[in-house]
Amino acid sequence: MSDTVKDLRVDTPAADNGAGFDFASVLEQHRLEINPVSIDTLQLNITRQCNQACTHCHMEASPNRTERMERPVIERCLEILSGDNRIKILDITGGAPELHPAFRELVERAVKSVKKVMVRHNLTVMFDDKNDAGVNKNSLMEFFTRNRVEVIASLPHYHEFFTDRQRGTGVFKISIAALQLLNRAGYGQEGSGLVLNLVYNPAGFFLPASQASLESDFRRELLNRHGVVFNHLLALTNMPINRFKGQLERSAAYPEYMSKLKDAFNPEAALNAMCRSQMSVDCHGRVYDCDFNQALGLQSILSVPVTVFNFSYDEFLKRRIVFGAHCFGCTAGSGSSCGGATT
Ligand code: SF4
Ligand code: SF4
Repeated sequence: MSDTVKDLRVDTPAADNGAGFDFASVLEQHRLEINPVSIDTLQLNITRQCNQACTHCHMEASPNRTERMERPVIERCLEILSGDNRIKILDITGGAPELHPAFRELVERAVKSVKKVMVRHNLTVMFDDKNDAGVNKNSLMEFFTRNRVEVIASLPHYHEFFTDRQRGTGVFKISIAALQLLNRAGYGQEGSGLVLNLVYNPAGFFLPASQASLESDFRRELLNRHGVVFNHLLALTNMPINRFKGQLERSAAYPEYMSKLKDAFNPEAALNAMCRSQMSVDCHGRVYDCDFNQALGLQSILSVPVTVFNFSYDEFLKRRIVFGAHCFGCTAGSGSSCGGATT
């Protein structure tokens, strides 16, 4: 490591390492140095407002949240994207990002600068007629297809019971109706180039099964029961933070769940952790290693906390990633990231 890099490093913010769940010492035991390598993806969390309030939501989003990405932050993010072609993907998330009044403008301007714009879409927002952002199923579908946005849609299970238990009563039926609309518009259909990926996460205190076997189950069940097709399934581990951590604690299951994650530590998954190749930005322009660190307020720090306003691509690669006990969620089993399994 060069002296310049050393000089830029400061004490990390206080990440929770939980009793007995010190992630840094596990990396040390495995002689792993997990440093940033690139920024392929800029992930923007543009609002914490959501039409749902799911029990596992690490962003603690709900209809009552009011945070929205501010205009100067949006402009600066667009400037970063157009000024550096090393960042190839814009990943827009929330909350329900469609509820931000500038969502469509952001997408339309960003598609001119990056190879791919992905939207993390909860499906039900399409049918939410109480929002003030003009979201409705017809206009949203036309917008997605026209801009060839990649849709990453949450569907925790192909059984109504499990999906509704996690996301709210009635969510499954609406989600299926939304998936059918997306299919009709060409999403998930072979040869259309319109990508529809689904996101699965376990409906309990356990690790996901293999992504390939889950994908094959989802493909069979959704086609047979509902005529729904999709491209890929991304299997995510429930992260032991915020709402899901609260559930674990209320059930006195936190230590057991953490032990499961820690016992399943996979060095290859650690080497593929998404924080090595992305940055995450919050509504105020603060920069983080990933969405989970954002949810915990663990801002990236060089000599000062990093924001989009003092951001430089090359300097950002010199930071030390902020690890904590929650990182065992990314490195257990086949690994987990916003793009699904990592190994
Ligand atoms: S739909 Fe997504 S953002 Fe909204 S509450 Fe559920 S998990 Fe959170
Ligand atoms: S939560 Fe995952 S992506 Fe974020 S810093 Fe930890 S290992 Fe990296």
